[in-house]
Amino acid sequence: MKAAVFSYPPHVEVNEVESPRPAKGEVLVKVKAAALCGTDLRIARRGHSVIAQDEKRILGHEVVGEVVELGEGVVGLKEGMLVAVAPNFGCGKCVMCAQGLTHHCPESKALGITFDGGFAEYLLVPENAVRQGNVFPLPEGADPVKLSFVEALACVVHGFLPLRVSFRDKVLIYGAGAIGLMFLELSKLSGAKKVWMVDLSEERLKIAEEHGAVGILAEEGVKGKVDSPDVVVVAAPAPRAQMEAIEVASLFGRINFFGGLPPQVREVPIATNLIHYKELVVTGTTRSNNFYFRIALDLLLEGQLDLSYLVTHVLPLEDIEQGLSLMETQGALKVVIVP
Ligand SMILES: [Zn+2]
Ligand SMILES: [Zn+2]
Repeated sequence: MKAAVFSYPPHVEVNEVESPRPAKGEVLVKVKAAALCGTDLRIARRGHSVIAQDEKRILGHEVVGEVVELGEGVVGLKEGMLVAVAPNFGCGKCVMCAQGLTHHCPESKALGITFDGGFAEYLLVPENAVRQGNVFPLPEGADPVKLSFVEALACVVHGFLPLRVSFRDKVLIYGAGAIGLMFLELSKLSGAKKVWMVDLSEERLKIAEEHGAVGILAEEGVKGKVDSPDVVVVAAPAPRAQMEAIEVASLFGRINFFGGLPPQVREVPIATNLIHYKELVVTGTTRSNNFYFRIALDLLLEGQLDLSYLVTHVLPLEDIEQGLSLMETQGALKVVIVP
């Protein structure tokens, strides 16, 4: 089969590789759509600490496809079924897994990072992932491209729920990429009074404004332009935005540092007295698990959210490098690979 294979020095190459066959408990999925995400770009350009120097890995962890073969003993799934595959799974036994927090299992694994992923014609889902319910059946006729980014939405739901956004809230979001726009849509769905979005790109702010946000150019700063946001999301790798979030948040403000910072940024000076005197709640979230995946999938399947405008490019597997470049230059929101 054809697959986009990562190896060191960091690069991705489309090659012919051996097609996997499902062993006991495993499931083979024919990939219908796999979305590119910032993590794929980071791995493709800089590598990943869990991928050894002599290892190769098929990237891609946001995958929708069709079940084509079941390993011995798999129940609840059928050949021909359309499925979305959640990438994170754990050992299934530790105290984190017991709470469904498989993404914090000390043995946590992820398709497209520690196991081969979905930028290929076929994806093999390992036994532990199948057993933990990572293969989610979809209704017949569901659109793989429109559902491919459900995993990214699951991460956003994970970040969004603890912020408890309601009709009483004004929301400020740093970063108007696909992730920031998902936070915008969830804020609107929850009845937020007003949403401001900050970005470096005028083009991205235009899209945000078309979808109901008030755009603010990052270089102009937000002071004087926002009015005591109750909720602040930092979905951009920007230390300054983290500092500013604390400064502009209202009394009792809730803040989520959603985006990680580059590893060379070890510390960010933050006015902790503002956390104290304004009684702020500052949180961070990372990745997702099957709980948030289920919620995100239902939001899309039940039509509560229409995020199809996020898919700006659909490309064949051969053009994955073009997709990575588009993300790098911010020429795309969501790129979906259809092998
Ligand atoms: Zn991702
Ligand atoms: Zn575990």
